[in-house]
Amino acid sequence: MKTLILDETQTDIAARILKDGGVVGIPTETVYGLAANALDGNAVAKIFRAKGRPMDNPLIVHIADFDDIAKFHLVKEIPDAAEKLSKAFWPGPLTIIMKRTDIIPKEVSAGLDTVAIRFPSHPVAQKIIKEAGVPLAAPSANLSGSPSPTTARHVLNDMDGKIDAVLDGGSSDVGVESTVITLAEAVPRVLRPGGVTVEQLREVLGEVELDDAVLHQLKEGEKASSPGMKYKHYAPKANVVLLKGSDDEFISYVNSKSDDSVCALCCDEDLLLLSVKTVSLGRRGDYLTHARHLFDCLRRIDENPTVHTVYSRLPSTNGVGLAVYNRLIRAAGFEVIDLEKL
Ligand code: AMP
Ligand code: MG
Repeated sequence: MKTLILDETQTDIAARILKDGGVVGIPTETVYGLAANALDGNAVAKIFRAKGRPMDNPLIVHIADFDDIAKFHLVKEIPDAAEKLSKAFWPGPLTIIMKRTDIIPKEVSAGLDTVAIRFPSHPVAQKIIKEAGVPLAAPSANLSGSPSPTTARHVLNDMDGKIDAVLDGGSSDVGVESTVITLAEAVPRVLRPGGVTVEQLREVLGEVELDDAVLHQLKEGEKASSPGMKYKHYAPKANVVLLKGSDDEFISYVNSKSDDSVCALCCDEDLLLLSVKTVSLGRRGDYLTHARHLFDCLRRIDENPTVHTVYSRLPSTNGVGLAVYNRLIRAAGFEVIDLEKL
């Protein structure tokens, strides 16, 4: 299949392909999504084939207006908490899980009795959803397991020849996938951290739990509330190792490993201090910028075939730092070296 490359003025072509049951890579403010008509199980199945995504990993349904939830009869009931969250954070990088109706194809919900819904803020994403006239199911537009795409070029690197089209809408601003919160249980719970922080959610809802799988590896046989959390994820081909310790300890440990196969995923302030290859996430403590650059940095590291090991600091778990922590700890397969104990 030839993959068409569309520009921002060609949303009508993207919408036509989607209406006809095709699959299109679309820009959103979080990462690029691989979209299909969320109400058409056959179209959605093509997403799983293109990504090589396990069929038990459900997809997020994207809408272009809060009222689309009722209009398309996507959920059994809209909880008060969903209205509050939508007023505070929609359109934006927050996905809300609610009890689904039977309109949601099994391919979207992966057999669960819930559906995940998001109203993205990216104007081009909104335009495509509106012009398609249906909600769009869209996971991140990467091959399953590899870093998510934040540019149309990243999408083509993974998907050229496998999807009908990609629409280039520039770089994703947030850079990590949406925060996922479930309202399908007694207490709202964050299943995946993202651009909307846990602190912000607590300001709006009061009590909000953090799912164990956000920070920790699931134990053998343990069930994931968010099926996506059980897979090794976001990983570049090189082996990622996280280092816990002070800035000085980080620099001297990495420099002690200095050879051609090593790269440091670091901050701007480290660049002159490190003697290995470097890729910088941005200034120290600027978690929003780290999130925006994370996946592009991981993909750039993979472009250098001599690099086999990537050392990075263990990120902070504050604010948007938690989203970066969650992605990197998975990319590292939960491997952390505590430099204070060496
Ligand atoms: P992606 O589309 O690649 O950003 O991944 C979507 C994430 O949301 C995955 O981790 C899914 O497991 C999770 N997800 C989607 N729908 C649901 C649902 N109904 N219940 C729990 N998690 C979900
Ligand atoms: Mg993904």
